[in-house]
Amino acid sequence: MRYFTSPYNFIQPDVRRVKIYDTTLRDGEQTPGVKFSKEQKVEIARKLDELGVHSIEAGFPVISQYDEDAVKAVANSRLGAQVICLCRSKQKDIDAALRADVDGVIVFLSVSDLHLKYKLHTDLQSSVKMASEAIEYAKAHGLFVQLSAEDATRTSLENLFALFKAAEERKADRLGIADTTGCIRPEGMKYLVERVRKNFNIELSVHCHDDFGLAVANSLAAYEAGIDAISVSVNGLGERCGNAALEEVVMALYALYGVDLGFKTEVIQELSEMVSRFSGVPIPINKAIVGSNAFRHESGIHVAAVIKCPFTYESYEPQIVGQTRRLTFGRHSGTEGVREKLKACNFEISEEELAEVIKTLKHLPVDSKPIDNGELCDFVSRVLREKGLRK
Ligand code: MN
Repeated sequence: MRYFTSPYNFIQPDVRRVKIYDTTLRDGEQTPGVKFSKEQKVEIARKLDELGVHSIEAGFPVISQYDEDAVKAVANSRLGAQVICLCRSKQKDIDAALRADVDGVIVFLSVSDLHLKYKLHTDLQSSVKMASEAIEYAKAHGLFVQLSAEDATRTSLENLFALFKAAEERKADRLGIADTTGCIRPEGMKYLVERVRKNFNIELSVHCHDDFGLAVANSLAAYEAGIDAISVSVNGLGERCGNAALEEVVMALYALYGVDLGFKTEVIQELSEMVSRFSGVPIPINKAIVGSNAFRHESGIHVAAVIKCPFTYESYEPQIVGQTRRLTFGRHSGTEGVREKLKACNFEISEEELAEVIKTLKHLPVDSKPIDNGELCDFVSRVLREKGLRK
């Protein structure tokens, strides 16, 4: 057994698979201050491909020659994953995508009243017409086409369905629901996906933002409601508060829903660190899945139990995501944990000696660096020597 989660998750033996499309190189790159070089994009794309994601959204080629070249470099990297890119509903954007050699495009447009009035300065009919022409043009050039409704979670069903109906008629391959400002609740997302699902017999996807910390929860709610594809980004990188984190969605599907996508999840940690390095955005120590504390234990009660059975305070093996368990010793350590750890490394110690070691640990200066797993034996030997208990 590699994970131990709640029986109330009611994992079914026969679970529906879902496609994962990554937008680290597009939405992630739209993070203020983040710019990937062409080489970095290719390197991240290769790692995503090694992980096994189904599609990689490589960028927004119409922005500049630089962006077009970078998307093209990814598209020409001979990846197993489908390479797609973002386009407004404009021929010019699709031409840039075609020059960049991608397999497909995400054509986006918003038909929420708010966007129609303040951003597009147009009406529903003209917007739908714009999207329809863009889809027709992209399909005529052999591209896979996803039509994404930006701000879909604040769009009336009437407007949304008008746009989706036009997309379906123009033979779009997939419809996208974007929670652009991250403002929907999981229940609302379930309702919306179910409504769309009932009315359209076509692949559906979601793209969620994390403004309320709900991007992953909303993506999973969409999965429960029958979505076919989920947009994610490594470390949740993306505009403002970012997107649904790839590592969280993939691992939640795996361990909480029993969905094995056949991914090489062992590369998740490496991928996360690569994206952090290239983007200059650090990984918080308590970040789910990839944070340095995700499998780190110091409290005496936890350490003692984890040594005997890690599932007491973890729900899956760290190796699954390329992480390592770290036991740390310091002011929070207890006798039981230290005794168990020393026993595990065949370090013989008397109860009197152990008491001295614990006393020393408890009186370590508040700002002292915790002692890591591998350093404990050396630390104990030193304490015993200093106390005159051993030579
Ligand atoms: Mn976005």
